[in-house]
Amino acid sequence: MPMPPSAPVRKSRTIAKIWPDLCTGCEACIAVAPHDTCIVKASDDVTLPTALVVCDVQIDVCTGCTLCLRICPWDAITMVPRPTA
Ligand code: SF4
Ligand code: SF4
Repeated sequence: MPMPPSAPVRKSRTIAKIWPDLCTGCEACIAVAPHDTCIVKASDDVTLPTALVVCDVQIDVCTGCTLCLRICPWDAITMVPRPTA
């Protein structure tokens, strides 16, 4: 029996963007993020103090929930259009 076509994966129109010049690396956004890997440290250099490493959004994991934007104490996050490619 042929398999039915799978439903298209729906994605939010916007995703979070962390501006590295404003991010302090405090990790408040990671603490509230609903997905394990939607926000990651921008460097895995273990010689750097973790609190000094800015965070970055994983475009393919972000669902646009805005929780990180609302918690960021430094206004380092904005919502931007999801890249189409
Ligand atoms: S909450 Fe804001 S300042 Fe803190 S790590 Fe996340 S983006 Fe950076
Ligand atoms: S908007 Fe939501 S899903 Fe996207 S990075 Fe922020 S907390 Fe994660």
